[in-house]
Amino acid sequence: MNEQKAPISECPHCGSEAGYYEKVQISGRSRWYHNFDGKEADNTYFYDDTKAKYSKYTYCTACEKRLFKVEEIGE
Ligand SMILES: [Zn+2]
Repeated sequence: MNEQKAPISECPHCGSEAGYYEKVQISGRSRWYHNFDGKEADNTYFYDDTKAKYSKYTYCTACEKRLFKVEEIGE
């Protein structure tokens, strides 16, 4: 079984099968490092000082209407 499976397979409002999203409120500061020679720098810790607050509900990707609770995912 897919643990990330949604309780519905399409949006009950618009019928879209495009998927859904969670609203995420991200706060904090970060640093994005660069090397002078243009090579990719290590940004592994980019999110370390940020806080991500996820919404209780999910929303339709197509019509943006509220769908189901995040806790219903995978049940
Ligand atoms: Zn929809």
